[in-house]
Amino acid sequence: MSSSAVANSAGSIDRSMVEQIVRQVALEYLGREKNGTAPLLTVQASSRHMHVCREDMDVLFGPGTELTYDRALFQEGNFAAKETVTIVGPRSRLISNLRILGPMRKRSQVELAFTDAIMLGFTDIPVRLSGDISGTPGAVIIGPKGVVELKEGVIRAAIHVHMNPAEAAHFGVAKGDKMKLRIGGTAGVTFDNVHVRIDPKARLNVHMDTDEANACGLHLTKDFELIK
Ligand SMILES: [Zn+2]
Repeated sequence: MSSSAVANSAGSIDRSMVEQIVRQVALEYLGREKNGTAPLLTVQASSRHMHVCREDMDVLFGPGTELTYDRALFQEGNFAAKETVTIVGPRSRLISNLRILGPMRKRSQVELAFTDAIMLGFTDIPVRLSGDISGTPGAVIIGPKGVVELKEGVIRAAIHVHMNPAEAAHFGVAKGDKMKLRIGGTAGVTFDNVHVRIDPKARLNVHMDTDEANACGLHLTKDFELIK
C-alpha cells in the first residue's frame, strides 16, 4: 500500500497528508508573497480533440462558418465547440464525435491518446508539443459539409504545464524547460518530462492525455506536485 495522502478509515489524516498540506500552504504563501497569486496547481486530462484552421473549417462545416461556443476550458480564451467531426485512420477505422476546440488555429491538428491511435489503426504517432506537427501522420476528417484529407497533424500531445511568467519565476523555470510531476494516490506515478509553456494569460495547469491520466489514476487523487 502506498502511504500517500488519503484519509484513513478512522477519518483522521496520515502523516504524508499533513506534510502535503503544509507544503501546499507554504507554497501558496510563498507564491502570494512573491507575486500576489497562489500557484495552485490544477492537473487535467485532455480527451482526444481537433483544432481546425479556417480553410478546413470552410470545407468541413461550410464557407465562412464559425465554431459554436459550448463551454469554456480552463485556459482563458479556449473553449470546447459544439462542432464535432469523424476521423478515419489508415486502416479505415474511425472515431466519430471528435470534439473541436476553439478558437481556430493556423493549422489543423488532431490530438489523440495512444489508445485512440491504435483504435484508428495507427501503429505509432509521435509525441509532440501542440503546433509542432511537421512529419507527423495525417488522417481523413469528415464533417457535415465535406471531407478534408490532413497530410499531417495527428499527434499524441506531450504532457505539459501552462504557467504565467510569475509562476515560472516562482518555480525557477523558463520556456522549454522540463519539470517533474509527481502524482500520489494508489498508483503513484512521476512524469519526468513535463514541458513548460509560459504565457502571460496562462493559469497554472498541467495537461496530460487520457492514457496518462488513467495510468496514474488522476481522478482518484488531488495529491500532485510539480518538481523542478
Ligand atoms: Zn495545454
